[in-house]
Amino acid sequence: MSNYKVCVLTKEKAFEFAEKEIRKPQGKQVLVKVEYCAICTLEQRVYQGIMKMYPFAGGHEVSGIVEAVGEGVKSVKAGDKVAIRMLTSCSECYYCRNGHENQCVISFKASAHEGLMGPGGFSEYMMVDSKSVYPFPEDTNLQYAALSEPLACCVHSVNNAQIELGNDVVVIGAGIMGAMHIQLAKLRGARVIVCEVDEKRLQIARELGADITINSRETDAIQRVKDLTDGRGADVVFCTAAISKLAADSIAMTGKNGRVIMYSSFHPDNPIDLSANRVHSTEMVITGSVNPKTSDFLAATRLLSFHLIDVSKLISDVIPLEKIGDAFEKAIDPSTYRILLKCH
Ligand SMILES: [Zn+2]
Ligand SMILES: [Zn+2]
Repeated sequence: MSNYKVCVLTKEKAFEFAEKEIRKPQGKQVLVKVEYCAICTLEQRVYQGIMKMYPFAGGHEVSGIVEAVGEGVKSVKAGDKVAIRMLTSCSECYYCRNGHENQCVISFKASAHEGLMGPGGFSEYMMVDSKSVYPFPEDTNLQYAALSEPLACCVHSVNNAQIELGNDVVVIGAGIMGAMHIQLAKLRGARVIVCEVDEKRLQIARELGADITINSRETDAIQRVKDLTDGRGADVVFCTAAISKLAADSIAMTGKNGRVIMYSSFHPDNPIDLSANRVHSTEMVITGSVNPKTSDFLAATRLLSFHLIDVSKLISDVIPLEKIGDAFEKAIDPSTYRILLKCH
Protein backbone atom coordinates (compact mmCIF):
# COMPACT_ATOMS: atom_id res chain seq x y z
CA MET A 1 0.00 0.00 0.00
CA SER A 2 1.06 3.61 -0.39
CA ASN A 3 2.24 6.15 2.16
CA TYR A 4 0.66 9.20 3.76
CA LYS A 5 2.02 12.34 5.45
CA VAL A 6 1.80 13.36 9.11
CA CYS A 7 2.95 16.75 10.31
CA VAL A 8 5.14 16.76 13.44
CA LEU A 9 6.14 19.82 15.49
CA THR A 10 9.89 19.29 16.05
CA LYS A 11 10.65 22.44 18.06
CA GLU A 12 9.32 25.97 18.50
CA LYS A 13 7.82 27.11 15.17
CA ALA A 14 9.34 24.17 13.23
CA PHE A 15 7.67 21.27 11.44
CA GLU A 16 8.59 18.07 9.66
CA PHE A 17 6.42 15.78 7.59
CA ALA A 18 6.77 12.12 8.57
CA GLU A 19 5.81 9.41 6.07
CA LYS A 20 3.74 6.49 7.32
CA GLU A 21 2.39 3.47 5.53
CA ILE A 22 -1.35 3.18 4.92
CA ARG A 23 -2.43 -0.12 6.47
CA LYS A 24 -5.57 -2.20 6.29
CA PRO A 25 -7.73 -1.76 9.42
CA GLN A 26 -8.08 -4.84 11.65
CA GLY A 27 -10.77 -5.73 14.20
CA LYS A 28 -12.24 -2.53 15.64
CA GLN A 29 -9.93 -0.21 13.70
CA VAL A 30 -11.22 2.48 11.35
CA LEU A 31 -9.06 4.10 8.67
CA VAL A 32 -10.20 7.70 8.17
CA LYS A 33 -9.20 9.95 5.30
CA VAL A 34 -8.73 13.27 7.12
CA GLU A 35 -10.51 16.19 5.46
CA TYR A 36 -10.10 18.97 8.04
CA CYS A 37 -8.19 19.46 11.26
CA ALA A 38 -8.57 22.65 13.30
CA ILE A 39 -5.71 24.27 15.22
CA CYS A 40 -6.60 24.37 18.92
CA THR A 41 -4.98 26.28 21.78
CA LEU A 42 -2.96 23.25 22.90
CA GLU A 43 -1.18 23.03 19.56
CA GLN A 44 -0.69 26.80 19.49
CA ARG A 45 1.06 26.60 22.88
CA VAL A 46 3.38 23.87 21.61
CA TYR A 47 4.04 25.86 18.41
CA GLN A 48 4.91 28.97 20.40
CA GLY A 49 7.13 27.07 22.85
CA ILE A 50 4.86 27.80 25.85
CA MET A 51 4.51 24.02 26.25
CA LYS A 52 7.74 22.31 25.21
CA MET A 53 6.77 18.76 24.27
CA TYR A 54 8.69 17.75 21.16
CA PRO A 55 8.45 15.96 18.84
CA PHE A 56 4.65 16.37 18.88
CA ALA A 57 2.18 15.17 16.24
CA GLY A 58 -0.57 17.71 16.97
CA GLY A 59 -4.14 18.08 15.81
CA HIS A 60 -7.16 16.74 17.71
CA GLU A 61 -10.13 18.53 16.09
CA VAL A 62 -10.60 16.23 13.14
CA SER A 63 -13.26 15.43 10.56
CA GLY A 64 -13.01 13.10 7.60
CA ILE A 65 -14.44 10.28 5.55
CA VAL A 66 -14.16 6.61 6.46
CA GLU A 67 -11.83 4.90 4.01
CA ALA A 68 -12.05 1.34 5.35
CA VAL A 69 -13.11 -0.51 8.50
CA GLY A 70 -11.97 -3.67 10.31
CA GLU A 71 -14.23 -6.70 10.45
CA GLY A 72 -15.41 -5.91 14.01
CA VAL A 73 -16.70 -2.37 13.29
CA LYS A 74 -20.48 -1.90 13.32
CA SER A 75 -21.19 1.83 13.70
CA VAL A 76 -19.61 3.19 10.49
CA LYS A 77 -18.76 2.02 6.98
CA ALA A 78 -16.58 3.22 4.11
CA GLY A 79 -17.79 6.55 2.73
CA ASP A 80 -19.37 7.80 5.98
CA LYS A 81 -18.67 11.33 7.13
CA VAL A 82 -17.26 11.37 10.67
CA ALA A 83 -15.65 13.38 13.45
CA ILE A 84 -12.92 11.76 15.55
CA ARG A 85 -12.66 12.08 19.32
CA MET A 86 -8.94 12.03 20.02
CA LEU A 87 -9.16 12.45 23.76
CA THR A 88 -9.12 8.78 24.61
CA SER A 89 -9.44 7.30 28.10
CA CYS A 90 -8.01 4.12 29.60
CA SER A 91 -11.27 2.51 30.91
CA GLU A 92 -9.23 1.18 33.86
CA CYS A 93 -8.45 4.09 36.19
CA TYR A 94 -10.55 5.31 39.14
CA TYR A 95 -12.12 8.17 37.14
CA CYS A 96 -12.94 6.07 34.08
CA ARG A 97 -14.69 3.59 36.35
CA ASN A 98 -16.76 6.13 38.30
CA GLY A 99 -18.18 7.85 35.22
CA HIS A 100 -15.74 10.74 34.87
CA GLU A 101 -13.57 9.49 32.03
CA ASN A 102 -12.78 13.10 31.05
CA GLN A 103 -10.53 13.12 34.15
CA CYS A 104 -8.70 9.95 33.06
CA VAL A 105 -5.13 9.87 34.34
CA ILE A 106 -3.66 8.82 30.97
CA SER A 107 -5.89 10.80 28.59
CA PHE A 108 -4.39 12.35 25.46
CA LYS A 109 -1.49 9.93 25.34
CA ALA A 110 -3.02 7.87 22.52
CA SER A 111 -1.48 8.01 19.10
CA ALA A 112 -3.03 7.34 15.72
CA HIS A 113 0.35 6.89 14.03
CA GLU A 114 2.86 4.22 14.94
CA GLY A 115 5.88 5.64 16.78
CA LEU A 116 4.62 9.25 16.95
CA MET A 117 3.52 11.04 20.12
CA GLY A 118 0.39 13.16 20.09
CA PRO A 119 -3.14 12.98 18.68
CA GLY A 120 -1.82 13.32 15.10
CA GLY A 121 -4.69 15.03 13.32
CA PHE A 122 -2.44 17.14 11.08
CA SER A 123 -2.25 14.22 8.68
CA GLU A 124 -3.75 12.74 5.54
CA TYR A 125 -4.99 9.53 7.17
CA MET A 126 -5.60 8.29 10.70
CA MET A 127 -6.09 4.81 12.09
CA VAL A 128 -8.40 5.01 15.12
CA ASP A 129 -10.57 2.79 17.28
CA SER A 130 -14.25 2.62 16.28
CA LYS A 131 -15.31 3.99 19.68
CA SER A 132 -13.57 7.28 18.78
CA VAL A 133 -15.45 7.72 15.49
CA TYR A 134 -18.77 9.62 15.45
CA PRO A 135 -20.88 9.48 12.27
CA PHE A 136 -22.51 12.54 10.68
CA PRO A 137 -25.36 12.78 8.15
CA GLU A 138 -24.60 12.81 4.43
CA ASP A 139 -25.42 16.54 4.04
CA THR A 140 -22.86 17.59 6.69
CA ASN A 141 -20.29 20.27 5.97
CA LEU A 142 -17.10 18.59 7.24
CA GLN A 143 -15.58 21.97 8.13
CA TYR A 144 -18.26 22.30 10.80
CA ALA A 145 -17.87 18.67 11.93
CA ALA A 146 -14.18 19.39 12.66
CA LEU A 147 -15.37 21.66 15.48
CA SER A 148 -17.07 18.79 17.35
CA GLU A 149 -14.32 18.61 19.97
CA PRO A 150 -14.31 22.31 21.00
CA LEU A 151 -18.12 22.26 21.01
CA ALA A 152 -18.06 19.13 23.18
CA CYS A 153 -15.81 20.96 25.69
CA CYS A 154 -18.41 23.75 25.86
CA VAL A 155 -21.27 21.24 26.21
CA HIS A 156 -19.46 19.78 29.23
CA SER A 157 -19.03 23.26 30.70
CA VAL A 158 -22.70 24.20 30.17
CA ASN A 159 -23.80 20.88 31.69
CA ASN A 160 -21.65 21.65 34.76
CA ALA A 161 -23.41 25.02 35.10
CA GLN A 162 -26.90 23.51 35.50
CA ILE A 163 -28.60 26.50 33.88
CA GLU A 164 -32.33 26.88 34.58
CA LEU A 165 -34.91 28.52 32.30
CA GLY A 166 -34.79 32.29 32.64
CA ASN A 167 -31.43 32.38 34.45
CA ASP A 168 -29.06 35.32 34.04
CA VAL A 169 -25.91 33.89 32.49
CA VAL A 170 -22.71 35.87 31.90
CA VAL A 171 -20.11 34.75 29.38
CA ILE A 172 -16.74 36.46 29.86
CA GLY A 173 -14.79 36.47 26.61
CA ALA A 174 -16.32 36.08 23.14
CA GLY A 175 -13.63 34.10 21.35
CA ILE A 176 -14.65 30.80 19.80
CA MET A 177 -15.30 29.18 23.18
CA GLY A 178 -17.32 32.13 24.42
CA ALA A 179 -19.30 32.13 21.16
CA MET A 180 -20.19 28.47 21.63
CA HIS A 181 -21.16 29.06 25.28
CA ILE A 182 -23.49 31.88 24.20
CA GLN A 183 -25.39 29.62 21.81
CA LEU A 184 -25.58 26.69 24.26
CA ALA A 185 -26.79 28.93 27.10
CA LYS A 186 -29.49 30.31 24.78
CA LEU A 187 -30.59 26.73 24.03
CA ARG A 188 -30.93 26.28 27.81
CA GLY A 189 -33.30 29.25 28.01
CA ALA A 190 -31.00 31.80 29.65
CA ARG A 191 -30.73 35.56 29.29
CA VAL A 192 -27.14 35.81 28.07
CA ILE A 193 -24.89 38.74 28.95
CA VAL A 194 -21.49 38.88 27.24
CA CYS A 195 -18.40 40.77 28.50
CA GLU A 196 -15.62 41.34 25.97
CA VAL A 197 -13.21 44.12 25.01
CA ASP A 198 -13.25 43.62 21.22
CA GLU A 199 -16.12 45.35 19.38
CA LYS A 200 -16.00 42.92 16.42
CA ARG A 201 -16.40 39.97 18.75
CA LEU A 202 -19.25 41.70 20.57
CA GLN A 203 -20.99 42.11 17.20
CA ILE A 204 -20.59 38.37 16.45
CA ALA A 205 -21.85 37.63 19.99
CA ARG A 206 -25.05 39.60 19.24
CA GLU A 207 -25.47 37.79 15.91
CA LEU A 208 -25.17 34.46 17.75
CA GLY A 209 -27.93 35.39 20.19
CA ALA A 210 -26.37 37.33 23.09
CA ASP A 211 -29.12 39.41 24.72
CA ILE A 212 -26.85 42.05 26.25
CA THR A 213 -23.23 42.87 25.42
CA ILE A 214 -20.83 44.81 27.62
CA ASN A 215 -17.61 46.32 26.35
CA SER A 216 -15.61 45.74 29.53
CA ARG A 217 -12.88 48.14 28.43
CA GLU A 218 -15.40 51.01 28.56
CA THR A 219 -17.80 49.81 31.24
CA ASP A 220 -17.33 48.37 34.73
CA ALA A 221 -18.62 44.88 33.90
CA ILE A 222 -19.18 43.80 37.51
CA GLN A 223 -21.29 46.86 38.28
CA ARG A 224 -23.22 46.55 35.01
CA VAL A 225 -24.08 42.89 35.69
CA LYS A 226 -25.26 43.85 39.17
CA ASP A 227 -27.39 46.69 37.73
CA LEU A 228 -28.93 44.29 35.21
CA THR A 229 -29.85 41.83 37.97
CA ASP A 230 -31.29 44.26 40.57
CA GLY A 231 -28.06 44.04 42.54
CA ARG A 232 -28.13 40.24 42.88
CA GLY A 233 -25.39 39.24 40.46
CA ALA A 234 -25.62 36.51 37.83
CA ASP A 235 -26.92 32.98 38.32
CA VAL A 236 -24.09 31.56 36.22
CA VAL A 237 -20.77 33.02 35.04
CA PHE A 238 -18.49 31.31 32.52
CA CYS A 239 -14.90 32.57 32.45
CA THR A 240 -13.64 31.72 28.95
CA ALA A 241 -10.72 34.16 28.95
CA ALA A 242 -7.36 32.96 30.29
CA ILE A 243 -6.70 35.95 32.56
CA SER A 244 -6.59 35.50 36.35
CA LYS A 245 -8.07 38.98 36.97
CA LEU A 246 -11.16 37.90 34.97
CA ALA A 247 -11.45 34.75 37.08
CA ALA A 248 -11.70 37.03 40.12
CA ASP A 249 -14.25 39.23 38.31
CA SER A 250 -16.32 36.12 37.50
CA ILE A 251 -16.66 35.34 41.21
CA ALA A 252 -17.36 39.00 42.06
CA MET A 253 -20.31 39.23 39.63
CA THR A 254 -21.93 35.94 40.73
CA GLY A 255 -24.96 36.10 43.00
CA LYS A 256 -26.39 33.85 45.72
CA ASN A 257 -26.62 30.17 44.80
CA GLY A 258 -24.70 31.08 41.64
CA ARG A 259 -22.29 28.89 39.75
CA VAL A 260 -18.92 29.99 38.39
CA ILE A 261 -17.26 27.87 35.72
CA MET A 262 -13.53 28.38 35.16
CA TYR A 263 -13.65 27.19 31.57
CA SER A 264 -10.28 28.48 30.45
CA SER A 265 -6.97 27.14 31.64
CA PHE A 266 -4.65 29.79 33.05
CA HIS A 267 -1.04 30.25 31.86
CA PRO A 268 0.54 31.73 33.90
CA ASP A 269 -1.59 30.52 36.79
CA ASN A 270 -1.55 33.60 39.04
CA PRO A 271 -3.46 32.98 42.29
CA ILE A 272 -6.51 35.16 43.00
CA ASP A 273 -7.97 36.46 46.28
CA LEU A 274 -11.08 34.65 47.39
CA SER A 275 -13.43 35.61 50.22
CA ALA A 276 -14.23 32.31 51.91
CA ASN A 277 -16.94 34.09 53.86
CA ARG A 278 -18.68 35.19 50.67
CA VAL A 279 -18.64 31.61 49.36
CA HIS A 280 -20.00 30.51 52.76
CA SER A 281 -22.83 33.01 52.85
CA THR A 282 -23.89 32.93 49.18
CA GLU A 283 -23.57 29.14 48.76
CA MET A 284 -22.07 29.82 45.34
CA VAL A 285 -20.35 26.94 43.59
CA ILE A 286 -16.99 27.55 41.94
CA THR A 287 -16.05 24.79 39.55
CA GLY A 288 -14.19 24.19 36.31
CA SER A 289 -14.58 22.34 33.07
CA VAL A 290 -11.87 20.30 31.43
CA ASN A 291 -12.31 17.84 28.57
CA PRO A 292 -15.65 16.48 27.44
CA LYS A 293 -17.15 13.17 28.48
CA THR A 294 -18.30 10.68 25.86
CA SER A 295 -21.89 11.89 26.28
CA ASP A 296 -20.79 15.52 25.75
CA PHE A 297 -19.03 14.58 22.52
CA LEU A 298 -22.10 12.73 21.30
CA ALA A 299 -24.27 15.76 22.14
CA ALA A 300 -21.90 18.06 20.23
CA THR A 301 -22.03 15.89 17.10
CA ARG A 302 -25.83 15.86 17.28
CA LEU A 303 -26.05 19.65 17.77
CA LEU A 304 -23.90 20.09 14.65
CA SER A 305 -25.69 17.35 12.67
CA PHE A 306 -29.09 18.97 13.21
CA HIS A 307 -27.83 22.56 12.70
CA LEU A 308 -28.79 23.55 16.26
CA ILE A 309 -25.46 25.36 16.71
CA ASP A 310 -24.00 27.71 14.10
CA VAL A 311 -20.22 27.49 13.76
CA SER A 312 -20.03 29.06 10.29
CA LYS A 313 -18.92 32.43 11.71
CA LEU A 314 -16.22 30.78 13.83
CA ILE A 315 -14.06 29.47 10.98
CA SER A 316 -11.69 32.28 10.03
CA ASP A 317 -9.75 30.51 7.28
CA VAL A 318 -9.06 27.14 5.65
CA ILE A 319 -5.42 26.54 4.66
CA PRO A 320 -3.81 23.50 2.95
CA LEU A 321 -1.81 21.14 5.20
CA GLU A 322 1.43 21.93 3.26
CA LYS A 323 1.14 25.55 4.45
CA ILE A 324 0.82 24.63 8.12
CA GLY A 325 3.29 27.35 9.17
CA ASP A 326 1.07 30.08 7.66
CA ALA A 327 -1.94 28.45 9.30
CA PHE A 328 -0.31 28.55 12.75
CA GLU A 329 0.70 32.20 12.33
CA LYS A 330 -2.95 33.02 11.57
CA ALA A 331 -4.19 30.84 14.43
CA ILE A 332 -2.10 32.68 17.03
CA ASP A 333 -3.39 36.04 15.80
CA PRO A 334 -5.95 36.99 18.47
CA SER A 335 -8.31 38.47 15.87
CA THR A 336 -9.06 35.02 14.39
CA TYR A 337 -11.41 32.30 15.63
CA ARG A 338 -10.53 28.78 14.35
CA ILE A 339 -8.13 28.11 11.47
CA LEU A 340 -8.73 24.83 9.69
CA LEU A 341 -6.15 22.79 7.82
CA LYS A 342 -7.40 21.14 4.65
CA CYS A 343 -5.68 17.77 4.81
CA HIS A 344 -6.89 16.32 1.51
ZN1 LIG B 1 -9.44 21.38 21.07
ZN1 LIG C 1 -8.76 6.23 32.79
